[in-house]
Amino acid sequence: MYDVSVAIIGAGPAGTACALALKKHGLRVALIDQASFPRDKICGDAIPGQAFKLMAKMNAGWAEAMRVFADESVIRSSTGFAPNGRLITMHWKTFSYNSKRLDFDHFLFRLVRSETDAIILENKRLEKIFKEGEKIFCHFQDGSAITAELVIGCDGAYSVVSRQLADQSPALPLSCAAVRAYYTGVKGAEKNMNEFHFLKGLMPGYFWIFPVGDNVVNVGFGMLHNRKKKIDKKLNLRQALKSIVEDSPELAPRFEAAQLMDKIKGFSLPIGTEKRKISGERFLLCGDAASLIDPLWGHGIDTAMWSGYLAAQQAMHCFQTGNFTAAFTRQYDKAVYQKYGKDFKRRTRLLQLLYRHPALINTFFKVGSHPLVQKWWS
Ligand SMILES: Cc1cc2nc3c(=O)[nH]c(=O)nc-3n(C[C@H](O)[C@H](O)[C@H](O)COP(=O)(O)OP(=O)(O)OC[C@H]3O[C@@H](n4cnc5c(N)ncnc54)[C@H](O)[C@@H]3O)c2cc1C
Repeated sequence: MYDVSVAIIGAGPAGTACALALKKHGLRVALIDQASFPRDKICGDAIPGQAFKLMAKMNAGWAEAMRVFADESVIRSSTGFAPNGRLITMHWKTFSYNSKRLDFDHFLFRLVRSETDAIILENKRLEKIFKEGEKIFCHFQDGSAITAELVIGCDGAYSVVSRQLADQSPALPLSCAAVRAYYTGVKGAEKNMNEFHFLKGLMPGYFWIFPVGDNVVNVGFGMLHNRKKKIDKKLNLRQALKSIVEDSPELAPRFEAAQLMDKIKGFSLPIGTEKRKISGERFLLCGDAASLIDPLWGHGIDTAMWSGYLAAQQAMHCFQTGNFTAAFTRQYDKAVYQKYGKDFKRRTRLLQLLYRHPALINTFFKVGSHPLVQKWWS
C-alpha cells in the first residue's frame, strides 16, 4: 500500500494543474484516475485563455509547450446569434484555442509525467474514502488502497471525495446539463471562430459550434434546468440537439451534408451558482468536484486548473505548518471565492433574470453590439 503526503484523485485539468503546481515542494504526491489516458471527456473543447495564463504563471516552458500544442486551433473570434437574428462578433485578444479533451487532457497528463515526480496510478476507481486518525484512507475498485495525509478531490461532477468527505449541502435547484457531438462537413463552420446560437424556446441555454480541426466541429447544446419546475424535467437534450440540426430554419441547412461521427453524449455541469464548502479536515475539492463552472457561459477548464493551483498552495501551507484542520484549510475556500465569488454571483443573477425573462437576451445583444461594450468584452 502506498503512503503519500498528497493524493490527488482525478487527473483532469484540476488534478493535473494541481500536480504540476506541487512540483519541487518535496512532497510525495500521487495522481490517481479511474481511466487510463488518453481518455475522452464530454466537453465543448474550448480551452479558455485563463488556462493558458495559469500555465504561463507556473512555468514559461509549459506555457510554450501549450502554445505549440494549440497549433492551428487558436480561436480569434466568437460570433453570437440572438433569437431575433441579430449577431455579434467578438475578436479576442487573449490566447485561447479549441482542442478535443481526449488530446488536451492527455497533453496535461504527459506534462505531469515528464515534469514531476508524482506517482501516477491509472485504472484506479476510488470507491471509498474516510479519515482515520491523521490519515485519509482511499480504497479502490480493484481492491487496492492508499493512505495520504491530505486528499485533493479533483474527481469531477460526480465526485466521490465530495460525497464521502464533505458535508454536502442539499442539491442546488438550478443545475445545468449539456450534450456534445462531433460532426464533419458542417457548412460555413470557420476554422478560428466559435459560434454561440441562442434559440427561441430553448432559453436559457445555447447551441454551439466549435471547430476542433480537420474539418471536424464540436457541436453541443446546454440548458439551465430548475429541479423545482416540472416542465424542465421533460426536455430531452439529445432530442433537442437533433431537432436543432435537422429542423431549425437557421441551422438545419448547414447540417444537410454533415455527418455525425459518434453518439450524442451528455454530462452535467456543476455550475457555481452558490458558495459551497470546498474543504475540510485533510481534504480540498477542486474544479467540477467543487462546482466551479462559470454559471453563465459553462466554461470550467480554466476554473478547474486555477482551483487546482490554489489547492496546491494550500497544501503547501498545511505541510509547512503541520496544520490540516478544517479551520485552516478554509483559507482555500476564501482564496477560491476571492477569485471567482463576485463574478459568479453577478452571472448567477443574470442567469436567473434570463431564466425568468428569456426574451431579454435580444436586449443584451442590442447593448452588446455597441462598440464600447465590444471593446470591453474582448
Ligand atoms: C457538454 C459539456 C461541455 C463543456 N464545454 C466546456 C468548454 O467548452 N470549455 C470549458 O472550459 N469547459 C467546458 N465544460 C466544463 C468542463 O468540461 C469541466 O468544467 C472540466 O472538465 C472540469 O475539470 P475537472 O478536472 O474538475 O474534472 P474532469 O475533467 O471531469 O476530470 C475528473 C477526472 O476524475 C476522474 N474520476 C472521476 N471519478 C473518479 C473516481 N471515482 N476515481 C478515480 N478517478 C475518478 C475522471 O476519470 C476524470 O479524469 C463543459 C462541460 C460539459 C458537460
